[in-house]
Amino acid sequence: MIDKKGKVWLVGAGPGDIGLLTVKGKEVLESAEVVVYDALVSDEIAALIPSSAKKINVGKRANHHLVPQEEINQILLEEALQGNRVVRLKGGDPFVFGRGGEELELLVANNISYEVVPGITSAVSVPAYAGIPVTHRDYTSSVHIITGHARKGGVSRIQYDALVKMNATLIFLMGIGALEEICKSLMEAGMNPDTPAAVLERGTSAKQRRVIATVASLKEEADQAVIQTPAIIVVGEVCSLADSFAWMEKQPLAGIQVVVTRPKEKSSSLTGKLRARGAHVIEMPAIQTTTITQEKEVERFVQSLDKIREVSGEQWILFTSPKGVESFFSLLAVTKKDMRQLYTAGVKFGVVGNATRKELRLHGIEADYMPEIYCGKELAKGLIEVFGQNPYITLYRAEVGTEDIVEVLEKNQIAYQDVAVYHTQYLVDEELVARIGTGIENETVDYVMFTSASCVKAFTSCLTGMDYSKIKAVCIGEQTAEIASKYGMQVRVSKMATIDSMVECVSR
Ligand code: SAH
Repeated sequence: MIDKKGKVWLVGAGPGDIGLLTVKGKEVLESAEVVVYDALVSDEIAALIPSSAKKINVGKRANHHLVPQEEINQILLEEALQGNRVVRLKGGDPFVFGRGGEELELLVANNISYEVVPGITSAVSVPAYAGIPVTHRDYTSSVHIITGHARKGGVSRIQYDALVKMNATLIFLMGIGALEEICKSLMEAGMNPDTPAAVLERGTSAKQRRVIATVASLKEEADQAVIQTPAIIVVGEVCSLADSFAWMEKQPLAGIQVVVTRPKEKSSSLTGKLRARGAHVIEMPAIQTTTITQEKEVERFVQSLDKIREVSGEQWILFTSPKGVESFFSLLAVTKKDMRQLYTAGVKFGVVGNATRKELRLHGIEADYMPEIYCGKELAKGLIEVFGQNPYITLYRAEVGTEDIVEVLEKNQIAYQDVAVYHTQYLVDEELVARIGTGIENETVDYVMFTSASCVKAFTSCLTGMDYSKIKAVCIGEQTAEIASKYGMQVRVSKMATIDSMVECVSR
């Protein structure tokens, strides 16, 4: 017997742009145990669903298989009865033509607790992103949101006469299939055929498009533009403002959708900078790094410190990533070792690049050496020239690191120890991977950002069997680029190994 009942949150995901998900919606989603979502939920937002959560897709648009409403209601009930925190994630607002009310009925009947988190409805936000204010004092005093789908026995239930008399802004959801009929009926009910009207496709997404016409010409122009769903129809004088108010396409990276493959805790600055320029970003952390914890590994770490103190001659500690630095210091803390013991060995520090140098600074140490080109090979090569007598090198890095540093050291017969301080794990979120695969295939994904060679390997190991030549890869350095090229990707290498320099590689 399960005595703890779960709870359901009915959450509006907004129209697609991740920035339009509410703060509360995001919080609830990030702590969900089960997420039941439909086709309207964008990839950007789907990427927020914790990988630990059970994901139930009830709106598979691609194969036209839709889970019947009764079944969705039943799923929500059952998952809640199992004691789960269930999020029912819906496009736009759950109560605006979202059947949210129907989903609550069964929960109420079974005494399941729930909350409703409203979302930004496409009805007003999609026009806003196309430069159409749904009301404007000079043009209109009311807005009507109408379903273009509501028919009984093929007869429209829409009262066109009433709508035309209101002199209002009319917004039709689910109306593309009935576009011709809607326009014709409005004109038959007395609407001026020159009234401005619009079809707005995939609003708020990177690929949003708009067709601005008149009620008389809208159907023909939408056909010419080969409008796809989801799309809304807007009728009213306010549509004439679109061309002067449109703002989204003016952003430097408008229309661009990017996948960021960095580990989650590191991705925010890259993602933030891309979004600030108007790009849409799907975060798909392909790897996860964790500091070592196993007894044997930690013992090996302690031994490496002893070794540094024992060996005579010049001592260098090398870090090839910020994570290496972070793990090194957290291991010092865990093992209660004192940094000053290493100072007696007169140790010097070498770092691969700026980010690693910054991380080291956080611990009060200014690096003694950093190569001009940020890669392991250059680090080792450059050091050969600055080394004094009998150098002894300790590398603190990932369990599986690249071979190039040690190759240089070995070639030059320099003694070293290679110590693992963290593990790199590939993260596979099949649902997200499938979405991104489709995005690459149908060209809604424009770029994939790779900040390390292991990100490329992890990414390709998830997306097996696809044609990688469709991928425009932005790589942080030559080493990463080399691997991406091997997979046949179209590669751009950032001039410098910095996030800003990577952002500069993304263009329209
Ligand atoms: N609850 C949703 C509406 C669900 S009905 C809301 O509040 O937005 C589904 C209809 O919404 C689609 O047929 C389409 O007309 C509209 N729609 C949803 N998202 C859209 C988007 N991003 N761009 C254009 N239309 C959208």
